Amino acid sequence: MRLRCPSCGSRSCVNSAERVIEAAPTLYAKCPSCNDLVLDKTNRIDLTDISFDDLKCKNCGRKPLDAVMAQILAVSAEPNKNRPKLTLRQVGTPLLSPGVPTYAPPHIGYQNLLLLTKQQIIADASNLILRDIPEVRGVIYGDMKRVIGLANRHAAPHTCRVLAGCDMRADLVTSAYGQILMYKSQSKIHIEHDNAVKMTKLGTLPIAGRVVLDALAGPGTLGLMSVLMGAQKVVLNDAWLPAVENAYLNLQVNREILGLRTLSRAPVAKKAPSRAPNLFCTATTDHAIIELYHGEFEEFNIQDSGVDLVLLDPFPDTEPYFKALSKEIRNKHPKIHMVCI
Ligand SMILES: [Zn+2]
Ligand SMILES: [Zn+2]
Repeated sequence: MRLRCPSCGSRSCVNSAERVIEAAPTLYAKCPSCNDLVLDKTNRIDLTDISFDDLKCKNCGRKPLDAVMAQILAVSAEPNKNRPKLTLRQVGTPLLSPGVPTYAPPHIGYQNLLLLTKQQIIADASNLILRDIPEVRGVIYGDMKRVIGLANRHAAPHTCRVLAGCDMRADLVTSAYGQILMYKSQSKIHIEHDNAVKMTKLGTLPIAGRVVLDALAGPGTLGLMSVLMGAQKVVLNDAWLPAVENAYLNLQVNREILGLRTLSRAPVAKKAPSRAPNLFCTATTDHAIIELYHGEFEEFNIQDSGVDLVLLDPFPDTEPYFKALSKEIRNKHPKIHMVCI
């Protein structure tokens, strides 16, 4: 049975990891009947001669990415339809849903694109875009240069606004140890760009047989990959509740791949008196225990946790703070290996 989407409640948003991994190699590939279209992204374009119906492949039903973006522009630009003021790049950031590696300009199928925009003209047309362009899964409004989520413990969280459709999307993450599928409520979770670099660094660490703390876990990428890498115990922690909820969903989505035997929510705790981490859920495999916490890393009782290795994946602007904090912890607990990913 398909999982219910925590963002919109439907059963069409969340797939199992195995299903996406199986489909990934050809998900955005063009078939022999597909149309090609590559448009200028940085200059104003003339939409007069583009027939969006003709660009949809009669065989596989996909459209070139540029055609979908141009159609978004056309729907938004009415009545100025043929000579829109925006360039394609200014329309926004198209996020493939799910995000899997592509080796050629992608061809987009039904609901495989989530648009992140900061253009008011696009925002105003978001319901029309969703109604008229079947490839679009959702439209989110916000500034993609800012950190989405909880940038640090003193900052108020910054989120984007879901204007139409659903913001739930996944990225396929690959390491030498396998692949996992990471869902995120994209209006509330920072966009990852360089998972490959992080996975390469993670692959060099002594994780097999260790107790690993993924201290700023977000949706859980490093922690879940550590399970595949043979950690004896993985503790995931994050201060941002939407990230913790995404990590819980990702345990369910990757259940088979991780080899989970059990997965259970912790009893809902009464409002904690401090910001100390509260247990959110636990899971077990034949070889490992997984615990997921919601709370601040600074309040985590590292002394009694039995942790061998702490992974820190901070946002760029909080990196100096967490580097200093890791140094402090290393001085106090010389046996704990602290790594900034
Ligand atoms: Zn949804
Ligand atoms: Zn085709």
